[in-house]
Amino acid sequence: MQIARSVGEMRDARRQVQGSIGFVPTMGYLHAGHRSLIERAREECRTVVVSIFVNPLQFGPEEDYGRYPRDVPRDLALCEQAGVDVVFVPEVQDIYPMGAGTVLEVRGLQDRWEGASRLGHFQGVATVVAKLLSVVQPTRAYFGEKDYQQLQIVRRLAADLLLDLEIVGCPTIREPDGLAVSSRNVYLSAEARGRAMVLFRALTAAQDEVDAGEHSAAAVRATMRKTIESVQGVDLDYAEVVDPTTLEPLDTIDREARAIVAAGVDDVRLIDNTRLTPVGA
Ligand code: AMP
Repeated sequence: MQIARSVGEMRDARRQVQGSIGFVPTMGYLHAGHRSLIERAREECRTVVVSIFVNPLQFGPEEDYGRYPRDVPRDLALCEQAGVDVVFVPEVQDIYPMGAGTVLEVRGLQDRWEGASRLGHFQGVATVVAKLLSVVQPTRAYFGEKDYQQLQIVRRLAADLLLDLEIVGCPTIREPDGLAVSSRNVYLSAEARGRAMVLFRALTAAQDEVDAGEHSAAAVRATMRKTIESVQGVDLDYAEVVDPTTLEPLDTIDREARAIVAAGVDDVRLIDNTRLTPVGA
């Protein structure tokens, strides 16, 4: 396994490979979710590249950039074991040599939900993803449905910028009790982790209701809210039923939809989502 510690080294490594390249961008502190993306890339591509970069541009001034969990040696061991060919571990200076002069906007999509609560977040995501894709030049890039809005934004960015690659969305990996695996889960105390499970319970309740024939998005939304608000110490941000591509709120669930939720547990922001398929669709 090769380790590229700068943009120059990554470009050199890129020049040496032939055939398809699968790329998995991450912020490190790798877990089973990242691993599933790497495995998918390993199955589908000749060469697998993983990047580890905690992108300062996607964190707000009050957010956890400084304390975001990092363990590069452990990440490298996981990558090696998973059969990764190249790990790209750039410094902030490498990715923003002259600061953040050029910033990408994915208009509309960037302003809703996570974007409304985390101003500038998706501009940061879009900018770093475009930079990483430009350096790695993959055939396919793998993103988790866990960050569903991010996945839609990246798809839109790739389409709008006419990028010659495939964006592959991969299912959310969960703990046995349903909690979506996330690097930020380490912030949760054992007790808070118990409360955090309510996000998955709300999504499950939404799917159950749709399975039982409910078509009203308002009814399903109300069920999710009620579920989350029933747990003290969970601070609901949003629980919505949206179009799976535009992320605009729906009135009627008469085709595939997406339930999306966000809540704070202690000071930890958690997000989750699931597909909703109406009966007969
Ligand atoms: P992050 O390191 O949190 O920026 O995540 C890197 C990639 O892993 C993103 O595409 C995430 O959506 C994906 N990811 C994170 N958690 C999960 C999970 N539980 N299941 C599937 N993919 C995930």
